Amino acid sequence: MDKENEMVYVKLNEIEEKIDTLIRMTKAPTQQPLTQPLPPKQTWPAICSMCGVQCQVPFKPSPGSQIKCRQCYAQSQQAGY
Ligand SMILES: [Zn+2]
Repeated sequence: MDKENEMVYVKLNEIEEKIDTLIRMTKAPTQQPLTQPLPPKQTWPAICSMCGVQCQVPFKPSPGSQIKCRQCYAQSQQAGY
């Protein structure tokens, strides 16, 4: 390794160290959360088409659509429908 390359290598090492420090700084726990708390999700009341229970769905139920409550949805997912 000649002198010039060695210099570049040292400089790269310095930069890498600085990047490491920056990463550690960003990863350090801060008092203030970086993300804004999510607004409450809007839900619509619906009647489950499987068990008839009243439930809340995160979308506006369209007439004639098959609404499943959380439980029935989970069951149908497990059954593989
Ligand atoms: Zn149900």
